[in-house]
Amino acid sequence: MDTFEKLAALNQEMKVERAEEARLDSPPACPAFRPEPARGAAQPRPSAGGCDDPAEGFPITLAALPNGQRMPILKSLITSACERNCNYCCFRAGRDSRRVTFKPEEMAGAVVRLTEKGLIKGAFISSGIAGGGMRTQDKLIAFAEHLRLKLHYRGYLHLKLMPGAEYDQVLRAMQLADRVSVNLEGPNPRRLEALAPQKVFMEELLQPLRWVEQIRQSLPGRQGWNGRWPSSTTQFVVGAVGESDLELLNTTAYLNKTVRLARGYYSHFSPTPGTPFENLPECNPWREHRLYQASFLLRDYGFDVEELPFQNGGNLPLETDPKLAWARSNLLEAPLEVNRADRVQLLRIPGIGPKGALAILAARRKNRLRSLDDLKALGVIASRAAPFILLNGRRPPFQPGLFA
Ligand code: SF4
Repeated sequence: MDTFEKLAALNQEMKVERAEEARLDSPPACPAFRPEPARGAAQPRPSAGGCDDPAEGFPITLAALPNGQRMPILKSLITSACERNCNYCCFRAGRDSRRVTFKPEEMAGAVVRLTEKGLIKGAFISSGIAGGGMRTQDKLIAFAEHLRLKLHYRGYLHLKLMPGAEYDQVLRAMQLADRVSVNLEGPNPRRLEALAPQKVFMEELLQPLRWVEQIRQSLPGRQGWNGRWPSSTTQFVVGAVGESDLELLNTTAYLNKTVRLARGYYSHFSPTPGTPFENLPECNPWREHRLYQASFLLRDYGFDVEELPFQNGGNLPLETDPKLAWARSNLLEAPLEVNRADRVQLLRIPGIGPKGALAILAARRKNRLRSLDDLKALGVIASRAAPFILLNGRRPPFQPGLFA
């Protein structure tokens, strides 16, 4: 097979591995390919993760940018062979599936050629583990070095850090990539063991993320390929081994604080035939969606984990936006006066995001805000905010049945 045939074969493998009932735009089951909307992107719809858009049969994904635009990127593996046996994974050792392997320079050439064809503007390259995490990381680094230094590629590059990568490898990857990531898979060692018995939570997975932040703090950003250090992310498998939303969000909040994670990604579990988890039920995609919403509340809206509206068992309600659920409990009887609330309070009001809060603060320096139309003009979803606010001392009109 030539390089493009191998890419297409890998893409086909991914399609086979999707759960039968999965919609075409749903995240694939394999963690190596989980969709990764970019930081600041609009909140994802359930199951709409920007999955493969197989231009010419290649594993090309539309990644969302902070400005709302979509960018096609190649998501691929240096090798789909793997010596580990994660219980949910389509590429686990011993599973009967077609494997493909690329030489580092071969993959680099493919990225450049697909870029020249106008099919992609970036690449996200991961790998199965073959010959240990360090050896596999060396191959990923060799690929990135060839791409940046020999082929002078200046597009977006997201490089995966392998379990067990060493400090020097993490540093080198950070000098070549725009984003690096480590899949924690589970929110803590106990859940990880149920998902991926051969992975070690602290030493193999969390430590590389800690090194990323240590490097960002201690070494000058000019060592990065474009003059700054890459962002870092992680991903969790959701709904396979009984972990709660509280566990997932506690770990996300911890990572936000300690290693300045750009964000966590949540991939609802979908069973893959031929794996130990093949008979487990698929996780409800709405759970993934609610986790994303809650993680944005932690990262961008000043919420603490304890404030989120967990139900018994530690999960968020599936049927309600967590911010709306919080507001129903806390603001319906005690609405906030928009002309006096500070930024933190404004961010608690449904329909008001970070931009809307700043716009309100700026506008009310000039005039008092008196109507929902005043808020609409500032980009606020006024109908959503209405049940929870006062405008110039008065409750604005709203339809109670829709919100309470
Ligand atoms: S390490 Fe685990 S998740 Fe990664 S490719 Fe191998 S089996 Fe799959």
